[in-house]
Amino acid sequence: MAGYFKDIWTGITTIIAGMAVTFHHIFAERAITIQYPREVKEMYPRARAKLVNRIEDCECCYKCQRICPVDIFTIKGIRADKGEDLGMLPTGKPKLMHILEFDIDFNKCLYCGLCVDVCETGSLHWESPQEASVYSRRELLKSFAVMSEEEKKRLLDKEAAKKAARAAKAAAKPGVKPSPKKPRTTEKGDEKDVAGKEAQ
Ligand code: SF4
Ligand code: SF4
Repeated sequence: MAGYFKDIWTGITTIIAGMAVTFHHIFAERAITIQYPREVKEMYPRARAKLVNRIEDCECCYKCQRICPVDIFTIKGIRADKGEDLGMLPTGKPKLMHILEFDIDFNKCLYCGLCVDVCETGSLHWESPQEASVYSRRELLKSFAVMSEEEKKRLLDKEAAKKAARAAKAAAKPGVKPSPKKPRTTEKGDEKDVAGKEAQ
């Protein structure tokens, strides 16, 4: 009998405790819902709100592209000539790559942060802007490379000339048969990635 009344008492006290929390939120605390977009909440400093690449600190290592589970990076780089000074990286190493393209398609981003974790130079990082939403999908295609079209063309022409010279040299070697080059594929078979790697 005592157990019966004890259970009733426990039921009453737990309902009172639960309702106390509910009434505290209703009457004592500020409303949690805000009227977006008229009101904008301040982002938390560590929020994964906006992925940004500080291109001057990027070494064009392709690690972010390889680890991205949804394959949304388009990176294209060309190795600098021997002795060419492209400046220094935050890691203290010299920059060795010209970055022709560095695009991210945020339409598909999972905000998992794997790309930021593998970026050794810290160039890929999160920012917490007040406002990160956009009105069209097109605006979610972000390009971070800053190279002019003329400079890109100059570098691509130079790279093509180098490749042709290497092929001619190999063909001129006695006993070496020039073999037709098979298309290379990455683990994911991404042609853009191959283009980038070949350019390295
Ligand atoms: S956050 Fe994840 S999904 Fe988005 S670009 Fe980085 S690795 Fe890819
Ligand atoms: S991992 Fe970092 S340094 Fe390497 S390509 Fe990506 S952004 Fe650049």
